[in-house]
Amino acid sequence: MTKYIGVIGYPLKHSVSPNFQQAALDYCKLDMRYEAWEVKVDDLPSAINRLRQPQNLGANITVPYKETVLQFIDEVDGFASLVGAVNTVVNSDGRLAGFNTDAAGFLKALREDALFEPANKKALILGAGGAARAVSFGLLQEKVSALIVANRSLTKAASLAGALVKHVVNSNMKTEISVVPLQSADLATVVGQCQLIVNCTTVGMKHYSDEGQSPLAERLIPKDALVYDLVYNPSQTPLLRMAKAAGAKTIGGLPMLVYQGAASFKLWTGREAPIDIMLTAAKKALVRMGD
Ligand code: NAP
Repeated sequence: MTKYIGVIGYPLKHSVSPNFQQAALDYCKLDMRYEAWEVKVDDLPSAINRLRQPQNLGANITVPYKETVLQFIDEVDGFASLVGAVNTVVNSDGRLAGFNTDAAGFLKALREDALFEPANKKALILGAGGAARAVSFGLLQEKVSALIVANRSLTKAASLAGALVKHVVNSNMKTEISVVPLQSADLATVVGQCQLIVNCTTVGMKHYSDEGQSPLAERLIPKDALVYDLVYNPSQTPLLRMAKAAGAKTIGGLPMLVYQGAASFKLWTGREAPIDIMLTAAKKALVRMGD
């Protein structure tokens, strides 16, 4: 019986996960299909429930459901539970388990592609959704000296900062945690003190309302920082273009996308993912989409 995996999110027009995951499944000669399952919020519970059917191996969960999905699954892995966000669901005989591979993908690209060592660095996180949660807890584990959360909704920023502070206290860590409104004069001071700036908002993403926009003004970008944009479609976002113009180092979201996808692939299939095959397929798909 052909097995099925999919990506669940809304909208999904920007996603290249079906392209690179299918390329990997085909390369490994597995009788499996990876599909795009665009799901509106009201249909999320039934879409997640369908994953329990025997032909379904699981799914990736993407914008905007990484936090919401927790209430519809049966168990959550320790790190995903700490983060409060799930990007991978695995169906084991009708029981659904949630995992988070975003943090591992983010850190692997940070070290191996951007050659950046996060220990003792100050990091600014733009956003407070599912991806921001994974990135923040990933950086906390790597012992950054400070994490500043800047988000449009201050309530969400405070909620993420609260979870981070709790973990810092419980683990006897020293990382300083703070919050700054995304649109504020304070942001200018804070940005200048950070060695790492990570965009975890959807701003700049293709097919979104803020396509063509940057979450940060060019004049605020320090030239000695690394600017990491999780957005991968387009590969050159307005933020990355501005950061390059300011003289900063940059990395886009594509390597992270492939690394988190490779970790998910292993959870569904038990096989090591062919990363080079995935990367080539993802790049080709972006070009086909007009990148
Ligand atoms: P999410 O949970 O829906 O969170 C979206 C975030 O974007 C929230 O913080 C939201 O702020 C902010 N935002 C949305 N519109 C905004 C605007 N106009 N101005 C300022 N902030 C705005 O989404 P997510 O799952 O965290 O994903 C976020 C981004 O990361 C997406 O672009 C996604 O594709 C990317 N991502 C990439 C990878 C990768 O592997 N490269 C992995 C994960 C995610 P509010 O709280 O104020 O609404």
